[in-house]
Formats: sequence, structure tokens, C-alpha cells
Amino acid sequence: MTEGSREDAGFDAERKMQFLYQLRQKGVMDKRVLTAMERVDRGAFVRGHFASRAYEDMPLPIGSGQTISQPSVVGLMTQALNVQPRDTVLEVGTGSGYQAAILSHLARRVYTIDRHRNLTREAEVVFTKLGMANITVLTRDGSFGMPDQAPFDRILVTAAAEDPPGPLMQQLKVGGVMVVPVGQSDTVQSLIKVSRLEKGYDYEELMPVRFVPLVEGTARE
Ligand code: SAH
Repeated sequence: MTEGSREDAGFDAERKMQFLYQLRQKGVMDKRVLTAMERVDRGAFVRGHFASRAYEDMPLPIGSGQTISQPSVVGLMTQALNVQPRDTVLEVGTGSGYQAAILSHLARRVYTIDRHRNLTREAEVVFTKLGMANITVLTRDGSFGMPDQAPFDRILVTAAAEDPPGPLMQQLKVGGVMVVPVGQSDTVQSLIKVSRLEKGYDYEELMPVRFVPLVEGTARE
């Protein structure tokens, strides 16, 4: 098989096998997460000249100065979130829509928010094309969450905040879990798992990560 035809092969059986192998190597072991990631073609969420690298374990540019996260990081975050089939999940930071698409296979309902309208618009086109009817996409500042749909069983933030945003903490159900990258700089961040208890919250530090910052307000485009 020539290089050219390999590039056109999309998410075929061989690529799926390699993709899942990379994920397991990095510690993604949850069967449901692996199955969901096998069902979502990352190539559908990467455009332009990076499309040929869609199945490699690296972040890639997606426009508006943003990135689609590294697949193994998506896998580890999703695993830490421990989504249940009846859950309603909020994602802050739609980006390409890849993470939301994976969540849509694991949860009953997914709300995803981004501050860039061109990103939410493009993500919505892909969700429609893939027939993912349980995802709702909104353009707004996600650090305020979605009070009208709260509380959520799970919240996933895919941009780094200085602290877990207060409104998101409040919109978490008792027994709910939020996974959020936290850090004061662009280079040093920790992935934190916040669990809401009957009284107060429990915090667990999971691993070092590197995300684009959570920015206030809605973007111009
Ligand atoms: N989850 C995405 C990758 C996220 S990149 C994927 O699977 O492709 C981080 C995203 O967070 C960017 O698209 C950025 O626009 C968005 N973002 C940053 N600050 C935000 C805010 N306050 N509200 C909503 N989205 C925000």
C-alpha cells in the first residue's frame, strides 16, 4: 500500500488498533472509554493540512488559536470523569467537538460551551453529520456554566483556570464529579478531580497537563 492510499484510509481497522494501543500504553484502561474512542473518528474533527495526523497521539491546531487535545489526555480525563449512562454532562471548551462526541456515547445528554462562535458552529455541523442528537452546543463564556440546565452529574473543563470556577462548583450535583485543569501559568497545570460531597468538596490531583487558558467573555468570532 502506498503512502497516499494510507492517508486516505481514514479510521480503518489498522489505525483503530494502533490508536487504541497508544491509549492503553498511556493508561486508558476503562473499556467503555476505549469503546467510545474507537467509535469516534478523530479525523472528522481535524481539518486542513493536519488532517493526516489525526490518529497520532498529539494535540493539533483547530483554528481561532485553539487546539484539539491529545487523544491520550482526552482518554485519561474521560476515564477520571467516570461518566454513567444516565448522566447529564457539561463540557466547557467545545473546541473541535471531539471530546463532546466521546462523551455523547457515554452519557444521556451532553451540553458543550465555547466562547468562539466559529468553533461551536463547525462542531455542530460535525455532530449533525455524525447523527449525535444528544449534544447541545452553545456559544458563551462557559465559566458561568449553564444555570438553566444545572445541576450536572459531571462537568469537564478543557481549558485551564486559576481555580475551579465557582459557578461550575455550584452547578455540580451532590455525588457529582468535575475534572478541570488548574494552574497559574500556560506551562504548569495540574488536572484536578473535584467531587461534590453532602457537605463540601473533595479534591484530588491527577496529573500534570497543558491546556489553553480559560478566557473570560465571548470571543468576537
Ligand atoms: N475539548 C476540545 C479542546 C478544547 S481547547 C476538543 O475536544 O477539541 C479549549 C477550548 O476552550 C477552546 O476552544 C477555547 O475557545 C475554549 N474556551 C476558553 N475559555 C473559555 C470560556 N471562558 N468559555 C468557553 N470556552 C472557553
